[in-house]
Amino acid sequence: MRTIEPNLSPHETFGACRPGCCPAARAPWQARRAFVLAAAAVAAPLHAQVDVGDASRLRSLVPADSLERSATQQYAQMLAQARAQRALAPDGNPQLQRLRAIARRLIPFAAAWNPRARDWRWEVNLIGSRQINAFCMPGGKIAFYTGILDQLQLTDDEVAMVMGHEMAHALREHARARIAKTQGTGALLSLGAQLLGLGQVGDMAANVGTQLISLKFSRTDESDADLVGLELAARAGYRPEAAVSLWRKMGQAGGGSAGIGFLSTHPSGPERIRELESNVPKVQGLYEQARGRG
Ligand SMILES: [Zn+2]
Repeated sequence: MRTIEPNLSPHETFGACRPGCCPAARAPWQARRAFVLAAAAVAAPLHAQVDVGDASRLRSLVPADSLERSATQQYAQMLAQARAQRALAPDGNPQLQRLRAIARRLIPFAAAWNPRARDWRWEVNLIGSRQINAFCMPGGKIAFYTGILDQLQLTDDEVAMVMGHEMAHALREHARARIAKTQGTGALLSLGAQLLGLGQVGDMAANVGTQLISLKFSRTDESDADLVGLELAARAGYRPEAAVSLWRKMGQAGGGSAGIGFLSTHPSGPERIRELESNVPKVQGLYEQARGRG
């Protein structure tokens, strides 16, 4: 597999989908149904050990299914591009197999955080790039860049923490809330029109497709993803302390290559590490239970 540099920058690679390509744009009634479904709150599970509260209600301003469809398209486009450059890991690649095995252990615990995840078609792929990067798009489309595995020399436990963190962004629908915030009243107005059957709801989700990978989440979203990811990983039997060693490694790598990929959107400061350290004991029991079962 080749390494490509740096042409998989999401901003350059991910074009917005064409007008009309999202089903919601073709059928306003579908959009209306999506909106009604989306308006139901996604609460944190009752048995959650970490304290993160419910997901933001702002999410409901952006239809979940049209955003997920848009993400699926962007993901397929990214894979096609990587494949054309021989930078997409084939199914037999040992690192890809390792990532997929870790995902298989985490996924059973996802739906507790978001019932929509039961219907997600999860995908995990590995892209050859020296960039330190990984993401999970809405709808469960995961990608790791070889750079994050190679440069940080991640253990399985640490990979599970990165994956859990990224899955948590998707499960807690941070992109939906973020988009609703950044689109502001414009989004509200156009959604209002769409609900009356006057506009094309797909357009907004399509236009934000370009931002899905490189979205910079708020500090609150980051802390939320850290904690939900930590709990997912612990339930799957991954060592909770790995969250702390992971972010220490990130911090060290950030010194030499700040501003690149994951590190630019995920600053690793003492505050982040302290919060994780104080949450490790909360999920230790879940980890031990999971190890006991294994
Ligand atoms: Zn994050």
